[in-house]
Amino acid sequence: MECLFCKMIEREVPADIVYEDEHVLAFNDINPQAPTHVLIIPKKHIATLNDLNESDLETVGRLQYVAAKLAKQNGFAEDGYRVVMNCNKDGGQTVYHIHMHLLGGREFTWPAG
Ligand code: 5GP
Ligand code: ZN
Repeated sequence: MECLFCKMIEREVPADIVYEDEHVLAFNDINPQAPTHVLIIPKKHIATLNDLNESDLETVGRLQYVAAKLAKQNGFAEDGYRVVMNCNKDGGQTVYHIHMHLLGGREFTWPAG
């Protein structure tokens, strides 16, 4: 499988893992945009949000649940944080295995940055 994130799941490519369970892996982004920038991915390969099936809905819920868990662990859950999922070119997706960005530890502006 020529997918960077699948290779991380298989331990063929190193990752700075911060959380793992049966369904989900989370690791620090290599190019952090905030003091905490974690990528939370399903262990099942799903290329984009457009490829989700109804049977994947629990998986996506788990990504969100792990994001909140990590926000609490990192101490910024109450101050607030941002979660982002980019889809395809216009959304800025560069890795085609769905992932939730968890960004925290600073204040964010909206809609960008
Ligand atoms: P996207 O642009 O697809 O929403 O997000 C992809 C993210 O993956 C980017 O934030 C990028 O920095 C991160 N990324 C790309 N290659 C690697 C890598 O080899 N290791 C890690 N830890 N993150 C990566
Ligand atoms: Zn993959």
